[in-house]
Amino acid sequence: MKPASRLVHPPAPSGGGGAATVNPAIQKGSTVLLPDAAALYDDDAYVTYGRNGLAAHEALKAALCDLEAAAAVELYPSGVAAIAGALLAVLGAGDELLMADTAYKPTRRFCDRTLARFGVRTLYYDPTLPPDAIAGQMGPRTRAIFLESPGSLSFEMQDIPALAAEARKRGVLSLIDNTWGAGHLLKPLDLGVDVSIQSLTKYVGGHSDAFMGAAAARDPDLTARLHAGVIDLGWSVAAEDAYGMLRGLRTLDVRLKRHGESAMAVARWLQTREEVVAVLHPALPGAPGHDLWKRDFTGACGLFALVLKPAPAGATAAFLDALEMFGLGFSWGGFESLAIDCDPQLTVRSFRRDYGGGLVRLHIGLEDPEDLVADLERGLAAFRSSAGS
Ligand SMILES: *Cc1c(COP(=O)(O)O)cnc(C)c1O
Repeated sequence: MKPASRLVHPPAPSGGGGAATVNPAIQKGSTVLLPDAAALYDDDAYVTYGRNGLAAHEALKAALCDLEAAAAVELYPSGVAAIAGALLAVLGAGDELLMADTAYKPTRRFCDRTLARFGVRTLYYDPTLPPDAIAGQMGPRTRAIFLESPGSLSFEMQDIPALAAEARKRGVLSLIDNTWGAGHLLKPLDLGVDVSIQSLTKYVGGHSDAFMGAAAARDPDLTARLHAGVIDLGWSVAAEDAYGMLRGLRTLDVRLKRHGESAMAVARWLQTREEVVAVLHPALPGAPGHDLWKRDFTGACGLFALVLKPAPAGATAAFLDALEMFGLGFSWGGFESLAIDCDPQLTVRSFRRDYGGGLVRLHIGLEDPEDLVADLERGLAAFRSSAGS
């Protein structure tokens, strides 16, 4: 089956019973009744407690396994929880972690605040360096390298298979934040990455109404570690949310196509505007990292950034405040278009880059791109008058 068909017809979880509706039951429950005394302690043959998931969770995990070509997938209450959970599952006191400097900001916060307290040291690397230069930063204590491609806010691309291979050669585990690729546009496990993590809150959910995260792996030792981490931390997700994520998966392919096409149309229009210095979108020919995107990804989503011409303070805010259709808000992957000013988030980076002006991130939703262009036109007019040109 082609990827789009697999999303509609994922494999059924083993042992899934009940009436033959197209979708799984929203089975709610803490207590699970077992048939006899021996079954009470037979975790291999029976689900013995509801915390680890019932029918909808099993169906979602089976579908996500298929999506990521994984042996096992764990569910977490949010994308941040999935990142934290995967890192906690593989790291221990005294270990070092190599982290992309362009990682999602809360990932960095978890490393600097929580992992540090447990004796794990995080070293940030410049993701634009060649893979062998990044690999050269792996030392005897390096246990794992974390990738995010494209990077949050500024969309730097990484050579994923080369970095995964360098890590494997040195006995270092590789993990990636695959939220931009949504598990559908990029298949990290096929490229040699050990753990693929995504925030299902974004495109899989697709409707800005629920939180969840997932971590996928193939190696039996890794899948066991991830599973043990979820059990030990007591993480659990609601059956309704698991059901909602499975519903989102059915339409992921068509939604991503529309987000991707509209985003390219808007990005190309922005490239023609004199108020815009650069459009940071890896699917644009000639953009930095375009060749890596073309080699490793099967498409693009609706998230990219633009750089406004250098302007006095307040001009970026004038641009954002003039937008009527784009909402001003964090997160992305839902049906709606959103915009944020990125500059305040860039100050924490170790390798700060001058992008040539104010960095604005756009999420292109499912609206008609002509309406979005008209809205951006309004924003740019406000930017021009605020910048006094
Ligand atoms: C939003 C996001 C996350 C975190 O997801 P939540 O479900 O909101 O916790 C992780 N990584 C990236 C790249 C994100 O954009």
